[in-house]
Amino acid sequence: MDQELDIPKSMKDTQTLEDLPGVGAATVDKLAAAGFGDLMAVAVATPGEIMDATGMTEAVAKKAIHAAREMLDMGFSSGIDIYEKRKNVLRITSGSKELDKLLNGGFETTGITETYGAYGSGKSQIGHALAVRAQLPPEKGGLGGIVVYIDTESTFRPERIIEIANGLKLDPDEVLRNIKVARAYNSDHQMLLAEKIEDLIKKDGLNVKLVIVDSLTSHFRAEYVGRGTLAGRQQKLNKHMHVLSKLADMYNLCVYVTNQVMAKPDMFFGDPTEAIGGHIVGHNSQTRIYLRKGKKGTRVAKLVDSPYLPDGECGFMITLNGVEDI
Ligand code: ATP
Ligand code: MG
Repeated sequence: MDQELDIPKSMKDTQTLEDLPGVGAATVDKLAAAGFGDLMAVAVATPGEIMDATGMTEAVAKKAIHAAREMLDMGFSSGIDIYEKRKNVLRITSGSKELDKLLNGGFETTGITETYGAYGSGKSQIGHALAVRAQLPPEKGGLGGIVVYIDTESTFRPERIIEIANGLKLDPDEVLRNIKVARAYNSDHQMLLAEKIEDLIKKDGLNVKLVIVDSLTSHFRAEYVGRGTLAGRQQKLNKHMHVLSKLADMYNLCVYVTNQVMAKPDMFFGDPTEAIGGHIVGHNSQTRIYLRKGKKGTRVAKLVDSPYLPDGECGFMITLNGVEDI
């Protein structure tokens, strides 16, 4: 319960669109329908856009935008404040020293780390390894925390958790008890589950240190077929990822998400694949790792577009014990 003390103001206590002056439930619906689903969207909109979406007068629209900006506290933080905050970043080790080195020590808290790659490239296996290792004490490379696993493809395997736990001489039953698994049946359900994680932390007092969404995009991809609905899909995915990154930031936890790839038809050279979800997923993931199969059953992880680490690659293996160096 100690950790309650440093928990910042609840995400649910923070203000929403309805708290804006001149904005009632009907206007919220109109705003959402036009793509202004949260305060940030309103804060960065022009008065004209808000007027078009809602039929407000210019004065009311300006007032709403101004209020949204105030609520979001869109001011400046000094570099030193951000640096101080970065010092709180914790890391979960994967089991492969090489992979951890690529990530400057492991999978970071305060942000989303995404792996994307073809089937069998090791995305879910890394998830299983992290789900166990996050429970190790800090001196052994974990965070001594509880894990939330949102499983969208029914690929969570307790048997695999037991194997990895045994390899680390942990009590497998205890390790399984500390992983809260929820199967998400569709994208709305998945989004709802992500929103409920805060209750686990606040109401149930669970020391959640790792949230896994495996896979982040499969439901969205399956439900929104065809170009006509792509914008709607992206908007929802964006909202979902915002919830996840806010959790990561507020509760100093690590979010690990997996993502599929699709063939890139216009690419003739190199690796003809790209991650699902386009720039929305790319922008919301602080760290992106492209996974592929290497020689002799190895896996290759490539760090892509890190905000502060050099691009690089390393190899690792998936073994009985989880993830290990070659
Ligand atoms: P998908 O896109 O289908 O979800 P993925 O990237 O999540 O794929 P994983 O499930 O992580 O793929 O990887 C599956 C692979 O992991 C298997 O093909 C196998 O090579 C390897 N693997 C799984 N369990 C073990 C194990 N106990 N020991 C060694 N390798 C294993
Ligand atoms: Mg998988």
